[in-house]
Amino acid sequence: MRKILFASSEVHPLVKTGGLADVSSSLPIALHQNGDDIRIVMPAYRQCLEGLKKIEPVATIKLEGFHLPIEILQATLPDSGVTLWLVHSPEHFDREGGPYGLPQSGDFEDNAARFALFSRAIAVLALDQAGLDWQPDILHCNDWQTGLAPALIADEPHRPATIFTIHNLAYQGLYSRDVFDALDLPERFWHSNGLEFYGLMSFMKGGLIYADHLTTVSPTYAKEICNYEYGYGLEGLLSLRAQQGRLTGILNGIDNNEWDPEVDRYIKKTYSTNNIRNKLVNKAAIQRHFALPENYDALVLGLISRLVSQKGVDITLDAVAKVLEAGVNVQLVCLGSGEASYEQDLRILRARFPDKVGVHIGYDEALSHQIEAGADVFLMPSRFEPCGLNQLYSLRYGTLPVVRNTGGLADSVVDATEENRKNGTATGFKFDLSTSEAMEEALDRALDLFQRPRLWRNMVLTAMEQDYSWEKSSKAYQQLYDRLE
Ligand code: ADP
Repeated sequence: MRKILFASSEVHPLVKTGGLADVSSSLPIALHQNGDDIRIVMPAYRQCLEGLKKIEPVATIKLEGFHLPIEILQATLPDSGVTLWLVHSPEHFDREGGPYGLPQSGDFEDNAARFALFSRAIAVLALDQAGLDWQPDILHCNDWQTGLAPALIADEPHRPATIFTIHNLAYQGLYSRDVFDALDLPERFWHSNGLEFYGLMSFMKGGLIYADHLTTVSPTYAKEICNYEYGYGLEGLLSLRAQQGRLTGILNGIDNNEWDPEVDRYIKKTYSTNNIRNKLVNKAAIQRHFALPENYDALVLGLISRLVSQKGVDITLDAVAKVLEAGVNVQLVCLGSGEASYEQDLRILRARFPDKVGVHIGYDEALSHQIEAGADVFLMPSRFEPCGLNQLYSLRYGTLPVVRNTGGLADSVVDATEENRKNGTATGFKFDLSTSEAMEEALDRALDLFQRPRLWRNMVLTAMEQDYSWEKSSKAYQQLYDRLE
């Protein structure tokens, strides 16, 4: 049986700031169900210590650069048979706030030390040096927080094959040379073909340079990051990896149990392709929730997002404002949190159009399901989008996505051109340019089609029939593991 150590800094339902957490539970569960022996390793955050039922210490390790011994705790990922290893350093992880910082004051100052410690612990586990008698064949690391691990074990003779998955190239873990010194890392890493990145230390480069294989979370993003526009200065290295056949794009799946309108426990009325009219009950419910007029004829636009520039919130605000100013029968319901200026702009839009716009600032799992179920259209005008999950949820819930043609959005949504509608493949609305005008045009196309209920219904059914399950995506990872073992 193949053994895989899967390392991630966030895992749903324990700790989540974004799509990484969803992937870090869904993919291991799918691999476990396919017969792999997979263990997840993550930091023992306070949320893990409080949220997990049975936790037992299984090992104590000593890490270079850190004085105190570190415990490895073992538990089971909720609602799965997957073993979870928690790196227990209370000083670093058992604290208030999210995995990377406090909502009010931003990132923790010691994040470099926290994730260097995490990476060192991953390396010890990957080399079977924790006394757990479990030697993985594959070490699968995710994002910069785990980036040092492939570097730390690269020269070890009996190491597992290493995979590093880029979930978002925009977050690289960049720190000063002083931090590099403080982390007690080998001097040989300080090299442009190592961790050094224009005078800074890059955690992400630990993965990009030293891992045997790189993946990212959609085929289009895998191509985009090889270009200047999306590559953040790493495009040369990534192009080289692509030429070497060492960079693969695999589209994320979704957790079909968690996101299924037929059994969703959060929504007012469950529905499927057989009783699509029940979706309207959810539409009325979401209108009520946001104190908007209950009006079936209004095109309800949904937005659930981290409120950051990447997600094109400004583009949405401008495009929707123009549509509303034109007096079109449209409503907008949004759920999000992030940069204060975007939060404020959303509140202003609500104040301008109180019977058209509903805003909930915050993070709310239940409400996110209710918006997916109740809205007609989902907005995702991202400037870049490695994969994106919400458009996949939207397809499953028959909530047609309006997306910018980039990354995973390009790979998962089929534009409602006349040709695609006629051959029954259209599932949403795409636009190319990162401008509110381009988005407005896509919204106009959605509005036009919404006036033609039979055509709209056909698209909703096509969207709901798409298969973006992990069953499919996990097979692609298994083929890659087969190649690397
Ligand atoms: P990213 O990881 O870049 O934030 P994704 O679309 O890949 O974007 O994943 C976002 C995930 O986080 C989805 O599961 C989405 O539903 C969820 N999400 C984002 N913001 C909120 C929020 N304010 N409330 C509830 N869920 C949210």
